[in-house]
Amino acid sequence: MGKLSQLFGIHKKPSPDAASLPTLSTELVLSPEPWQGNLPCVHGPTDGCNRHNPSREAIFFDPLLFPASSPAKPSGNHKPNGHYDKNPITISSSLPRTPEAGCLAPLPRVHKSVPYTLPFYHVHAIMSQLRSDTSPSESSLSALACEATTGSNPSLSWTARCVVDNHNSTSVDDATLLVEYALAFTVEADLGSWNESVAHGRAVAKAMLIGSGYRDFTPCRHFTLSFKSHRGEGKNHVRSAGVSFSRRVVGPNGKAEESKEEWRSEEDTVAEPTYCASCWTDTYISFRLVGNVVIVSIQVYKDLGAGAHPADPKWLTAARGVDIQRGPAEFGRMRMVFLEADQEEGQ
Ligand SMILES: [Zn+2]
Ligand SMILES: [Zn+2]
Repeated sequence: MGKLSQLFGIHKKPSPDAASLPTLSTELVLSPEPWQGNLPCVHGPTDGCNRHNPSREAIFFDPLLFPASSPAKPSGNHKPNGHYDKNPITISSSLPRTPEAGCLAPLPRVHKSVPYTLPFYHVHAIMSQLRSDTSPSESSLSALACEATTGSNPSLSWTARCVVDNHNSTSVDDATLLVEYALAFTVEADLGSWNESVAHGRAVAKAMLIGSGYRDFTPCRHFTLSFKSHRGEGKNHVRSAGVSFSRRVVGPNGKAEESKEEWRSEEDTVAEPTYCASCWTDTYISFRLVGNVVIVSIQVYKDLGAGAHPADPKWLTAARGVDIQRGPAEFGRMRMVFLEADQEEGQ
C-alpha cells in the first residue's frame, strides 16, 4: 500500500479467497464420537469470562480448534472480586475438524481487545438442537453468553449472547441464530478543583485524545467506528462533556464514506444507528454523562444464519467476508428480537 493511500485511509478491500471457502456441495462427514469445543471466551487453559470461569481455574481448552493465524493466548479479561463457582457448561460437536470444512472458522472480532471467539460449530450446536428437539436448551444458549472486562486502556466491559430468531415462522427451517455484543467504556476529563458549587464566572475546559490503539471498533468489515477525543467543561455550576467520533462505511458500490460527529451532553444529541447495507450487521451507539464520567455504549447485532452448513450464505457473510446487499426493510429487526426475548424473560 502506498504512502498516499495510507494518508487518506484508503484500504484495499480484503476479498475472501473463494478457493478457501466451503461450498454447499461439500459433504459434512461427521466424526463417530462427538468432540468437546472451546467456550467462546476461552483462549487458554486457565482463561474465560466472569460467567464461565470467574476464578480462572483450569478449564477445558483445545488449542487445535484455533486457526493457525490466531495463536491461542489468554484473553486478558479482568478477574472479578470475590468467590464464584465455575459454571460447568460445555459445548460439543460432531462436525469435521479439518480446516477445509470451514467449521472452525470464527466470526471476526468487533474490537481487538474483546476476546469472544464464535466459530461455526457453535452455531451448528445450537441450531441442530433446535431442528432435532423443540427448542435449544437454556444451557446451550448460555454457553454462548459471556461477560467480562478486558484490560485495555480505557478498560472495556463487554457481554455477548445469542438468541434464536424464528422470523415469525413456525417452521424450524426458517430460524436463524442472532448474536448481540454490548460494549461499554468510560471517559473522564479531570477538571481539577472545579466542582458544581464554584462561583459564577470560573470556567474550566479540558480536551483529551482517545488512544489510537484503542479507538477503533469494527462491527463488520464495512464499518469502522472510531472514537477520537473527548472534552469536559465546567461553567456556571454545570458540568458538560462531549465525545468526538467518526464512522467510515464502505457501501455496496465499494466506495468509502467518512462522517465526523460529536455527541454533546448539553444537547444530549442522539447518534443514529448504522445499518450495514452489505451484510447483516446493525450497530447502535449511545452516550450518557453520569457525574464526572461519560459512559459510551456500543451494541452490535448480527445474523449468523441457520447453522446447518458452514457454506450458509449468512454465515459466509458474517464470518468469511462474502458481501450481500441488504435492503432497509429489515434494518433494526435483530435488536427487536432481543428486546422481545428480554420482555418474555421478564414476564
Ligand atoms: Zn464466557
Ligand atoms: Zn457490513
